[in-house]
Amino acid sequence: MPLLLEPQVNAPLWRDGWYQFSGRLPSPNFGLRPPGTQIDLLVIHAISLPPGQYGGGEVQQLFTNQLDWDAHPYFQSIRGMAVSSHFYISRRGELQQFVGCNDRAWHAGVSRHLGRSNCNDYSIGIELEGAEGGMFEDCQYESLGSLCAALLQKYPIAHIAGHEHIAPGRKTDPGEGFDWPLFQKSLGLADRYFPESVHSAQDIS
Ligand SMILES: [Zn+2]
Repeated sequence: MPLLLEPQVNAPLWRDGWYQFSGRLPSPNFGLRPPGTQIDLLVIHAISLPPGQYGGGEVQQLFTNQLDWDAHPYFQSIRGMAVSSHFYISRRGELQQFVGCNDRAWHAGVSRHLGRSNCNDYSIGIELEGAEGGMFEDCQYESLGSLCAALLQKYPIAHIAGHEHIAPGRKTDPGEGFDWPLFQKSLGLADRYFPESVHSAQDIS
């Protein structure tokens, strides 16, 4: 028998809301979704810690309550925060998962989508390593696209929005550097999945 180089090759794509093709870093920051919740919204975020610095592992530490609040002056502004997201995609396109999708991660905060509040109840949060307003890497779009395609197959996703769209005036991520048309095209989804503001500009002739 040859060595099996990918030991999980026959594993199911999803197990209890955990995606096979993600590295697992379980976060204690989650709760149950309200009974009977339809998970129908994907929320795209951008985060980096300290802002604009990449690859140091601080976001993973934040989401798992391991961050040393005294390690950087900026961390004073978020000291004690207990947050998480379901997924995180690094600048190199690596995918990590912190909370099972069947559970409620703490990524959106005070939020509203199409008249419904508390987006954490019914959404899946995806954080891209990046700075608000900054650009994102090609490999991040590739990783995001394949993740979202898998999520669209697994959950009754009807909408995809940015944090800025569900918490306007309070949040600005992922910001202007995120290429919504490219992302939409990669998924082959109709305009109705996305906030009007991210595709309406394309229709002006
Ligand atoms: Zn956000």
